[in-house]
Amino acid sequence: MPELIQQGLWDDSPEGKVLIGSCCRECGAKAFPCRSVCSRCCSEQQTQTPMARRGKVLSYTRICIDVPAVDEAPYLVGYVLLDDGISVPARLKYFDVNPDVGSAVVFEVGVTGKTAAGEAITGYYFRPERGGEEACQER
Ligand SMILES: [Zn+2]
Repeated sequence: MPELIQQGLWDDSPEGKVLIGSCCRECGAKAFPCRSVCSRCCSEQQTQTPMARRGKVLSYTRICIDVPAVDEAPYLVGYVLLDDGISVPARLKYFDVNPDVGSAVVFEVGVTGKTAAGEAITGYYFRPERGGEEACQER
């Protein structure tokens, strides 16, 4: 059975898997990962909420050395600015060339590494948003 990078980071939704963040009942501030105290107003009135599945590349770097529990180098890590205004740390996968800052990306869950024993580790990542192919998959 594949291992997860961490329990509770994402869940199913009608649109597919989504990151689960927190939303402050006092001021509406969202955060990922979930917080128990709002970073804007210090309220402890937090509720879990699904995050946007789409966003844009905010920054990234290419890692060129192998790290245990991660796909073989080179691989991309960075931050994605979700459509609901939250920036999240993330792997970036399936880019044939380095992405441009601002490139449209979509959230996915899949294999993001292997354990020392060679078992797959399931994590989340963002992949390029594709025009026609994606439109066809949604029909
Ligand atoms: Zn708040």
